[in-house]
Amino acid sequence: MLIDIHRISGKGLLLDDRVELDPNYLIEDGSFFLEGIDYNVVFKRDGSRVKSKGRLHTSVSLQCVDCLENFDLKIDSKFDIILFPVDEIEINSISLNPDDMEYIFYEGDKIDLSKILMEQVNLFIPFNPVCSPGCRGICPNCGVNLNYGKCKCEHPLNEMNFFFSKLKR
Ligand SMILES: [Zn+2]
Ligand SMILES: [Zn+2]
Repeated sequence: MLIDIHRISGKGLLLDDRVELDPNYLIEDGSFFLEGIDYNVVFKRDGSRVKSKGRLHTSVSLQCVDCLENFDLKIDSKFDIILFPVDEIEINSISLNPDDMEYIFYEGDKIDLSKILMEQVNLFIPFNPVCSPGCRGICPNCGVNLNYGKCKCEHPLNEMNFFFSKLKR
């Protein structure tokens, strides 16, 4: 979804809508969106810089890295971003203020709102998603999900393995 920056006047541009996502769109293997992304965002422009402030809401299904089962995660995020035209950095490498704002670049005079929303969603997705802090994972021997009960394998070092797998994270 592209927004022409010339649509953004001094008063700002408010958008309040929902991005419908293709159900086949994968966040990564095994992880996907459960619904579209609801958002409301206000754009304000100062020359070529565009301030974008808003919030979004969606929910995703993520695959636990330990037990490989999917679990739901609700995402409700506020964002406050400044967008710069991509050519501006190349020409005079603008100095970016070290404050809390995030900086994103846009190309031409179009802002890709879906891309901004997707990036914000990605910030919320853990690198190694785990269904719950106490997830026991699967038995490395028979593949049984140990959250549902014990398997028949001998696990003399089970507690140690569990301990080490926590350390590795
Ligand atoms: Zn799990
Ligand atoms: Zn087993």
